[in-house]
Amino acid sequence: MTDEKKPGFNTRSVWSGEEKKEGWERTTQVPVAHSVSYGYKDLDEWLDVALGKAEGHIYSRNTNPTVAVFEEKMRQLEGAEAATSFSTGMAAISNTLYSLLKPGDRVVSVKDTYGGTNEIFTRFLPRLNVDVELCPTTDQEAIEAAVAKGCNVLYLETPTNPTLKVVDIERLAKAGHDAGATVIVDNTFSTPINTNPLSLGADGVIHSATKYIGGHADALGGVLCGSEELVKGAYAYREINGATLHPMAAYLMIRGIKTLALRIERQSESAMKIARFLKAHPFIEDVYYPGLETHENHEIAKKQMRGFGGMMSFFLKGDFDNIRKFLPRLKYAHLAANLGPVETVAGPPRTTSHVEVSAEGRAAMGIPETLIRYSVGIEDIDDLIADLAQALEYTEKNG
Ligand SMILES: *Cc1c(COP(=O)(O)O)cnc(C)c1O
Repeated sequence: MTDEKKPGFNTRSVWSGEEKKEGWERTTQVPVAHSVSYGYKDLDEWLDVALGKAEGHIYSRNTNPTVAVFEEKMRQLEGAEAATSFSTGMAAISNTLYSLLKPGDRVVSVKDTYGGTNEIFTRFLPRLNVDVELCPTTDQEAIEAAVAKGCNVLYLETPTNPTLKVVDIERLAKAGHDAGATVIVDNTFSTPINTNPLSLGADGVIHSATKYIGGHADALGGVLCGSEELVKGAYAYREINGATLHPMAAYLMIRGIKTLALRIERQSESAMKIARFLKAHPFIEDVYYPGLETHENHEIAKKQMRGFGGMMSFFLKGDFDNIRKFLPRLKYAHLAANLGPVETVAGPPRTTSHVEVSAEGRAAMGIPETLIRYSVGIEDIDDLIADLAQALEYTEKNG
């Protein structure tokens, strides 16, 4: 199937996985199948489904009709051969990695991956005698050199948390494949609306669906999209490991996805305007947003992102006391450890994602103590800019 023949992202967000109506009792919306198991009238029919010779469901830890619609939506949005889901984003990441790796294998990744992913690399995989090399995130040559030394899995994330670094998926996927590696990309920040890593050469793409995919901060979930073989392997591991997506969460994801393209377009557009506003503000030291020409990876971002996304970070002049004054003054931002919902969310990595890292550690990672991660919501842009302006003015006066 070529790109030209695919329906657009808004059409896919709404219709994918819901084109077939038979068996749904004529409901126009996907019902939540809370059933744990599925009854069969005769043993031959049951056996055919159990052996995969006929379509159907046996037990909801394995497959479930509501969950299947969510998976099909994500499969079509990422343009993948197959997709499978998980209870959380971390379950998607860990199950995928554990299904691919065995003792003696080697993983190459970057230093700036999500905190939980970094824990898998530094704490859990070494225990299984898997060698992990974490490279400087924006040093493409260093990543290529590490991969060339031998690599079973090349694991990338872009843009990264919290400084929004962008890695070149196409270039590194090629390096990975030259070394015979499976290339996985965490696409949570960019979403399928802005980037499709599979079309840039990746073998698998992972989302924490908890964030933009669901979009309403009311359900946890994860997904892996990729080749039939890769997805089958991760599914087999998840089925036994048991990190299944709940049908109610799948329903909330399906409902969220209907507006995914609309939300991402709005959030990307607003984030660009806010980034420009903050960049020009005298009380702001710097802004990290891949859409700004001054961003160190802007050229790569331009090449592989259709929009630059709703995530940014910025830091104020002065010390951490200024953050204490600034953040509670924001009227339109939850101060919370989350990102991607319809509401704006703000928080300092110093007390959220990187609270366990020492001040020296944060400095080494290039995370200023006064950094604020800002997830732009769908509120009216004028309100968000006015809100930031008044909180900055207050902090400057009282700092
Ligand atoms: C939140 C997040 C995860 C983990 O997802 P959970 O659903 O919280 O388990 C993984 N990667 C990125 C980039 C994230 O932002």
